[in-house]
Amino acid sequence: MSSKPLPLLPGAMLGMLGGGQLGRMFTIAARTMGYRVMVLDPDPGSPAGQMADVHLQAGYADAAALSRMAADCAAVTTEFENVPAESLIALGKTCRVRPGADAVAIVQDRGREKSWLARHGFVTAPFARVGSEDELDAALTDIGTPALLKVARLGYDGKGQARIRTPADAHAAFREFGGQPCVLESFVTLDCEVSVVLARSDTGECALFPVAENRHAGGILDVSIVPARVDDALARQACDTARAVADALGYVGVMAVEFFVANGRLMVNEIAPRPHNSGHYTLDACVTDQFEQQVRALAGLPLGDPRLLSPVVMINILGDRWHDDGPHWGTLLAHPNAKLHLYGKETARPGRKMGHFNVLDADAGAALALAETLRDAL
Ligand code: AMP
Repeated sequence: MSSKPLPLLPGAMLGMLGGGQLGRMFTIAARTMGYRVMVLDPDPGSPAGQMADVHLQAGYADAAALSRMAADCAAVTTEFENVPAESLIALGKTCRVRPGADAVAIVQDRGREKSWLARHGFVTAPFARVGSEDELDAALTDIGTPALLKVARLGYDGKGQARIRTPADAHAAFREFGGQPCVLESFVTLDCEVSVVLARSDTGECALFPVAENRHAGGILDVSIVPARVDDALARQACDTARAVADALGYVGVMAVEFFVANGRLMVNEIAPRPHNSGHYTLDACVTDQFEQQVRALAGLPLGDPRLLSPVVMINILGDRWHDDGPHWGTLLAHPNAKLHLYGKETARPGRKMGHFNVLDADAGAALALAETLRDAL
């Protein structure tokens, strides 16, 4: 445990495992509040490393880097679920680490995550864990088709997933994934998708951001609409479920629960042990944003007010928008209600998240129409 008494106050050094855009926005929030930030990421040009007081350029399991972090930081958090749980355990011996390694170890493996959810009574799409061709046959009998085969670890943004129409598809996909542990999941016809981002403190205090309605394109989040256009009872149920997941995990920090809505019913799709892309709207539309909340939970401060100040739509800007002369920022930047956030990534690639923008308007429908017009002008 940390030898420093809580709460950690401005001036303290906070550690971030991971240097992507989520780490960058955490770093900006922390430095705005007067904290110092040390980022661990092997990439010399990492988005968060650019903003940090100290950038340790090393791998997430590098023993020397981890011991420097433990020595210099009063508390450490992470921006992605694939950080080795062993690194969190090692840091946790001498330093405050939130969220804890136990929670991260559950959610970084899809199979373990879904089994945990089912064991705790949370509804998911029908699934079966698959570790061999024989188990795949059994899973196909159980789950049927159409289905999705998803690798258990390191999949994100629709990567490591295959659509399964026939048993032959499933075996081909399983081999293509190198026979690694997978989850076979029933393909669900979705009414829509929603998510809840929340913060939970050491004392179990919870602050929930309003429910976001999310549209995906090619397995990647495309648009978040807030407030979600779902009925109040469903929104309340999503919030209650997200809070129950956080409580059951004994979670401390910011996390997101993504849901499918199918036939008017909620199913938990995924838990993210960190701020989430579908919470980026909070940067411009809430009293406290998800990254300030991450700083607060890590530092042991009381949580901020998550209240929504205005309807908002967030649109992701992917590398696909980088044409010969780059995106045309003029129209977006000229609009007084549009807020641009770029992540400082040097190389644009199709599907790579380069930034996002938020549009605030009188209601969610108006914000969506305006945001789509502004996107078309990029
Ligand atoms: P995931 O990485 O599992 O969150 O999947 C990315 C996106 O693919 C989801 O947000 C859904 O839009 C879609 N998807 C994933 N699993 C399913 C499923 N079982 N049924 C229907 N759509 C799915």
